[in-house]
Amino acid sequence: MKIVKLPKNKTNDFIEHLQSFGEVHAPQKKGKKSCAFQPVTDPSKVLIGEEGFLRTILPLKKYFHKPVDTLLKFSPKTGFEDAYEEEGNKVIFGVHSCDIHAILSLDRVFSGKYVDTYYFRRRKKVAIIGISCVPDDLCYCQSMGTSFVEEGFDLFLSDVGDGYLVKVGTSLGDDMVSSAGDMMTGYGDSDINEYKRRINEFPSLFKTKVDEADLPAILDMEYKSEIWEEMGNRCFNCGICSMVCPTCFCFDVNDEVCLDGETGERKRCWDSCLFKSHAMVAGGHNFRESRADRFKHRFLHKHQAFMGDFGRPSCVGCGRCTQDCPADIHFVGMVKRIKDDITCVHSGEEEK
Ligand code: SF4
Ligand code: SF4
Repeated sequence: MKIVKLPKNKTNDFIEHLQSFGEVHAPQKKGKKSCAFQPVTDPSKVLIGEEGFLRTILPLKKYFHKPVDTLLKFSPKTGFEDAYEEEGNKVIFGVHSCDIHAILSLDRVFSGKYVDTYYFRRRKKVAIIGISCVPDDLCYCQSMGTSFVEEGFDLFLSDVGDGYLVKVGTSLGDDMVSSAGDMMTGYGDSDINEYKRRINEFPSLFKTKVDEADLPAILDMEYKSEIWEEMGNRCFNCGICSMVCPTCFCFDVNDEVCLDGETGERKRCWDSCLFKSHAMVAGGHNFRESRADRFKHRFLHKHQAFMGDFGRPSCVGCGRCTQDCPADIHFVGMVKRIKDDITCVHSGEEEK
């Protein structure tokens, strides 16, 4: 793997330089308290893990799996026509390790039995520049095995104090650093030592830890636990946790017919298994009628069903769901309760 160093005082120049590879997007302030991936017009506005702005409102999925996406246009004259409008290349700068893992997770989902061309034609146009970060109280990527990445980036920048060690992940990434000229330098022993010091220290920075060991089996045992009713009563079913989650991918598809009754568009938009309509089928039957059923379904899909399909949970520990839940539901606390309270949350025969 090729590694070079980017001195911090050259970071803005490098972000500017990346514009020659596509429209650069990076985390920037949105409102007073939030940040979002947005097009960069002024590199000095880019937030690189500043306190309070660790996680963006929406993750990277908004670029490939759009909140609302027009798939087709239809009319009696032309039949069905692909509505995709070619997009230019993009470079997303400042992506944390957990979010890169989330994209790898979505890649697996959308490249399954039926490859989702709508997702991949956008995905192929986007270069990813990762960056190291310092966890806050809500991060638990360390527990989910997503605090480091070995793939899924074109470049990855690791903070070593006065600069970043830049790992080159692809030939496109190689072009980015080769064409950057003297913005990039070599690195020395002090950089290596600082890199290793930070790597060794990193696990101790996590205040939130989750033990997922044997969780799928425990969730099976706790399928009838009272905890689901309790959490269902607290949850508003607003779906925010699904919208902000970098690995949630459910969508709904609708045909919107124009007033002429003939032409229209087929659209898909983000959906959530927390919504009552999500499991409703023709005839009006709903497989998950109660809020408790829907809350349980999302939790089990993340930590059990996805494991069965892909060998790992569908959670990268980014903390967005807990940060944004208006009902103050703490999802790490949920895992702990499920794992620890096995005898006290049960009712009925099993408890006796
Ligand atoms: S964000 Fe909270 S209240 Fe809203 S659906 Fe998710 S768990 Fe329920
Ligand atoms: S479930 Fe919550 S913590 Fe896990 S990836 Fe989704 S938003 Fe992040």
